[in-house]
Amino acid sequence: MFDFDLFVIGGGSGGVRAARIAAETGARVALAEEFRMGGTCVIRGCVPKKLLVYASSYSSAFEDARGFGWSVGDSVFDWNALISAKDRELERLEEIYRSSLGNAGVEIFDCRAEVVDPHTVMLATGDRLVTKHILVATGGSPFVPDIPGAGRAITSNEVFHLDRLPSRSLIVGGGYIACEFAGILNGCGSTVTQLYRGEQILRGFDGGIRQTVADGMCNRGVRLCLETNVVSIENSDSGLLVTDSNGEKHHADIVLYATGRHPNSGGMGLGEIGVEFGPRGEIAVDAYSRTSVPSVYAIGDVTDRVNLTPVAIREGVAFVRTIFEGVPTKPDHEIVPTAVFTQPEAGTVGLTEEQGAFNGSGSAGFDVYESKFRPMSTALSGSDEFMLMKLVVAKSTGKVMGCHIVGPGAAEMIQLAGIAVKMGATKDDFDRTVAVHPTAAEELVTMARAARSI
Ligand code: NDP
Repeated sequence: MFDFDLFVIGGGSGGVRAARIAAETGARVALAEEFRMGGTCVIRGCVPKKLLVYASSYSSAFEDARGFGWSVGDSVFDWNALISAKDRELERLEEIYRSSLGNAGVEIFDCRAEVVDPHTVMLATGDRLVTKHILVATGGSPFVPDIPGAGRAITSNEVFHLDRLPSRSLIVGGGYIACEFAGILNGCGSTVTQLYRGEQILRGFDGGIRQTVADGMCNRGVRLCLETNVVSIENSDSGLLVTDSNGEKHHADIVLYATGRHPNSGGMGLGEIGVEFGPRGEIAVDAYSRTSVPSVYAIGDVTDRVNLTPVAIREGVAFVRTIFEGVPTKPDHEIVPTAVFTQPEAGTVGLTEEQGAFNGSGSAGFDVYESKFRPMSTALSGSDEFMLMKLVVAKSTGKVMGCHIVGPGAAEMIQLAGIAVKMGATKDDFDRTVAVHPTAAEELVTMARAARSI
């Protein structure tokens, strides 16, 4: 007999959601988490990051306020006060996660769990539990390339716990985390240098987003060194000494590596029972999140599909519908809106202009509508930061295939624009929607002429 119908390994966003709603169907569910309930998103990712983004944005808000008639006195920023307040908020959220599981009847084990066979899980305590299904939702971990002195670098795991604001920060990478932390540390008052190996940050995003975000970051004081990588990190009399691939030396108090994350799939006994992995160590799953072992499923970053919290949650919900509600459900990985909480902020959904140009050859192609302007929120502040709105429209159907926004409120806007794009709205649908005036978002429904065809 089984002790449980479902044993979930990993208490992050995906695992917690799957465990809770599976238990709500009447299933007997257990969940093991070796660290803190909430996983990367709640404990050392999206949530604390957004709190730090809010904190860091006050410095430019104080500056902007002057143009609107305010005399702002000397402002003093206390890093430790921020970190303590952030930690209190995380404790509150962690408790909510824990109690929501308990209220649903999920049995929680605060320890590591490994699989012994397709239906048996062994806890760090030595206890063995027999379960009908296993769901692996163990997420990923930051990866630091093997360069001399790599051990002196920190990752996004440690940056949330620095005991003081570094006066000089060197950040490596050009993806979400590197760019977001460049803005956070810069806004809080650190002098930030960001090294990225490619020709422009945010590879894979629309070219307009990449350029506008990069311009805005530099405008706010981040020093961005493109086509540059780290050769070595040494200790020096004044902190860390980084030598880059152009031979330049950088002095820094921290070196933050944000060079991607690897799936947490090893050391859990999965390979031993026949679970197959992809080339990056990700757990290979089918469209229903089932692994090569029929009783074992996996969701979230450990499967390296679309590594975003809301996607992991959707994968968990689809798993429960399939297994515990008898409704086979595939998670939908198409047209996923996402935001980068850089300063300036970016929001994006669907086809980029570059993808359109690539796909367009041989088809009817795409029209690109674009508007780059100074948002009214900065009209009196003296800031010369630009906002970008772009729509990529299929010529054959008139459908808006992609929407890309940079500027204040971009993340909030893209959530709503994402609904329209997901529904298959056409440019005509956008145009017959009356503008909300005066807003920045009204540009989305007032772009009369295509800037170019691709
Ligand atoms: P990303 O995959 O976004 O970016 C990794 C960056 O590191 C890229 O610029 C990459 O360069 C560079 N890089 C990779 N390997 C090396 C190397 N050996 N040497 C130098 N540079 C290297 O990873 P992140 O760590 O920023 O974020 C991890 C994941 O977390 C993301 O995939 C994202 O899904 C998620 N996330 C989402 C957020 C959000 O929704 N707002 C916020 C934060 C994280 P190149 O481009 O050349 O490959």
